[in-house]
Amino acid sequence: MTDIKEIIELMNSPKEKDTELIIKAYEFAKNAHNGQKRMSGDPYFIHAFATGKNLATFGMDAHTIAAGLLHDTIEDANISSEMIQKEFGKEILFLVEGVTKLGKLKYRGVERHSESLRKLFVATAEDVRVLIIKLADRLHNIQTLDGHPRADKRERIAIETLEIYAPLANRLGMWKLKSELENNAFPYAYPDEYKKVKNLLKQRNKVDKKYLEKVYRSLQKELGKQGIQGHVIQTGHRVKSFYSLYKKLLKHDMDIEQVYDIIALRVVVQRIEDCYRVLGIIHSVWTPLPGRIKDYIATPKPNGYKSLHTTIFTGDGGVVEIQIRTEEMHKEAEYGIASHISYKEGFFDKIKGRGKKVTPNKKLNWINQLNDWQKNVSESGEYLENLKMDFFKDRVFVFTPEGDVMDLPEESSPIDFAYAIHSDIGDHVSGADVNGKFISLNTKLKNGDIVEIKTKKGNHPSSKWLEYAKTTLAKRHIKNALQKIADNK
Ligand code: MN
Repeated sequence: MTDIKEIIELMNSPKEKDTELIIKAYEFAKNAHNGQKRMSGDPYFIHAFATGKNLATFGMDAHTIAAGLLHDTIEDANISSEMIQKEFGKEILFLVEGVTKLGKLKYRGVERHSESLRKLFVATAEDVRVLIIKLADRLHNIQTLDGHPRADKRERIAIETLEIYAPLANRLGMWKLKSELENNAFPYAYPDEYKKVKNLLKQRNKVDKKYLEKVYRSLQKELGKQGIQGHVIQTGHRVKSFYSLYKKLLKHDMDIEQVYDIIALRVVVQRIEDCYRVLGIIHSVWTPLPGRIKDYIATPKPNGYKSLHTTIFTGDGGVVEIQIRTEEMHKEAEYGIASHISYKEGFFDKIKGRGKKVTPNKKLNWINQLNDWQKNVSESGEYLENLKMDFFKDRVFVFTPEGDVMDLPEESSPIDFAYAIHSDIGDHVSGADVNGKFISLNTKLKNGDIVEIKTKKGNHPSSKWLEYAKTTLAKRHIKNALQKIADNK
């Protein structure tokens, strides 16, 4: 189950010294965690191993995989930093400590699993691999969430995964990771909504597959006729994770007919010029939907994503999205930043010790922005406006008086903020200060606001709060509390 060969086989023709390093880290972590158990009762080492294996799957370098194997040894196995440095050197120590520190934030005496985003950004700005290890760690934790004994913690971890880690994976262009995080977290975060989406999708899938099959056959014939070389067509590929489909459905009153890109045909060709030829061929056979032709090759998405997209009328009542890309773009779309690391050897050799920023290309500018943002955090409010434009769109960053960041959807109120901290705080809100001023509970929070929630033991939610709340989490807790009050009358 935890055979080191599995990891080595995933690596891209590793050098001997890389293999030696991985085996050494593997043995070290195995000894360090010897006898420790996870909350599920499984040996702890399974988690360390899975984190390392995830990193190998992403195509990361040997140092990162080794750090992944070792990532919990300082925090959970009483291994000293000096020991890691002595055995594995400064670079691996930095990576392990970067992940370790992230888990140490306390909030009002209660240890929270949600780390301060600010701390995460600082470590990430210094070396982006810290974030990638954190994501690999989170992926295994969310995949094994059913082993967590406490339902409230499961929910909290799942929501945090959806609201913080999946967007970060997306920002790194790691599409596959993002959707795996989302698909695993969604059922725990919002079980009822998850079931609803699943049922909607079941009905819709049958219809979609029928159209896709037909278009697939005609398209393959057509491309063959036109002599497009080396094309691969994947049918019925689900473009959206359940969770991103859910978010889109919310915008369309849960009407699934309004969502066109649930599954798509994908054409993978050898050269960029073939992409445009294929697009031309498609448009000569089917009528495209206006406004849905996207050239992400000429103008890639901010996370680096490249492809041509078009949506066509199938001619018999159906609508199908087709994505066209080269093999290289395909790999990049799946693994994002990590695919660059495996392509360009020596990419990380440039990093010597701590303090140097990892800025291999423009795609990582946002990480530097985050770092600058962090430096200016005490100066003015403008930085956050810029951050919002470029980073998590549709979200606001709000601070606790202790400087912890909460990441909430736009138009959230102090009620949402209170529930995001803890349901107990939410259930007893008596008032709120924003930036030191007392404000009403239906105030919409803005980026950079410092929010202090006042609670009173005797206070309980009122039905008005349902209008003030924006997040599903807050609404659900309010409804539960109202129900309880009604039952007691
Ligand atoms: Mn861990």
